[in-house]
Amino acid sequence: MSNIPSDVVVGIDLGGTKVLIGLVGPDNSVLSRYKAPTREHHQPDELLKAIAAGVHEAAKKANVPWEAIRAAGMGIPGPIDAATGVVKLAPNLGWSNVPVREVLERELGLPVGIDNDVRVATLSEFQLGAGRGHQRVVSFFVGTGIGGGLVLDGQIYHGAHNAAGEIGHTFVKAGGPLCGAGHKGCLEAMASRTAIQRDIVAAAKKGKATALKNIAGKDLAEIKSGDLAEALERNDKLTKRVVRRAAHYVGYGIASAVNLLDPEIIILGGGVVEALGDTFMNWAIERARPSIIASDARDVAIVRAELGDDAGMLGAALVARSILTHS
Ligand SMILES: [Zn+2]
Repeated sequence: MSNIPSDVVVGIDLGGTKVLIGLVGPDNSVLSRYKAPTREHHQPDELLKAIAAGVHEAAKKANVPWEAIRAAGMGIPGPIDAATGVVKLAPNLGWSNVPVREVLERELGLPVGIDNDVRVATLSEFQLGAGRGHQRVVSFFVGTGIGGGLVLDGQIYHGAHNAAGEIGHTFVKAGGPLCGAGHKGCLEAMASRTAIQRDIVAAAKKGKATALKNIAGKDLAEIKSGDLAEALERNDKLTKRVVRRAAHYVGYGIASAVNLLDPEIIILGGGVVEALGDTFMNWAIERARPSIIASDARDVAIVRAELGDDAGMLGAALVARSILTHS
């Protein structure tokens, strides 16, 4: 029995609808995965207990003895007080001021590290994915909202108030529509899937024809990223117009990030980018490059994320491992 895994960490990617748990070996290989819906748990304690049970399931699945597990990390959709491990606000979970680290450490009997979900996804893309080998990385994750992360000189940059990297809330259209946080004209309000849906629904209400009515069904408010991809494949004019405009706004966001930070690489991920692929990338890039002020910086690498759905889980595992090396 020489193949019993040792030095294992747990990565937990907690989202508004599901949690993905992975056991990760010292070489960052995924030994097992466990996925569960989160919606049925209304109280934070209940959900964290269910997550702890899920970690035990994942250990069983991979035949990892509990003693081999050293630490756990979790990415959470909302701002976090890194010093206390308290989640200040996670609207998708209905949480405010939840002492996540304390509760999870008690439930698991392991040291636990937590960070913002997009930041941990940036960490894994930086260390294991599209950003490998680079020291200055900016990421954009375009989905229901738009999140981002910064790596400056080889380190995730947290900022003075642990609030850095909110690329989705940089302003691209003064007085524009509302974002998820109630501000007008943020990138998120112009280019997220929520924004794309809003614009398509409004145009359809005005009588614009769209193949999406056949693809997504009657309720255009339920459009998924995959539906948009299919509509683009069918050359649906309305979808093309709305998605291209959204991608152009992401392009302006990229140019602003490059003008401010001069990174080596920009990584684009999230559900919209994964589903729409090079079509979305190329529209973003065609607007980004000419808007970059320094001619040398104009050829910055602008690439797709590589780790897909595993990015958050693998990044959380890296957070777990960082506790071990720092203790
Ligand atoms: Zn905003």
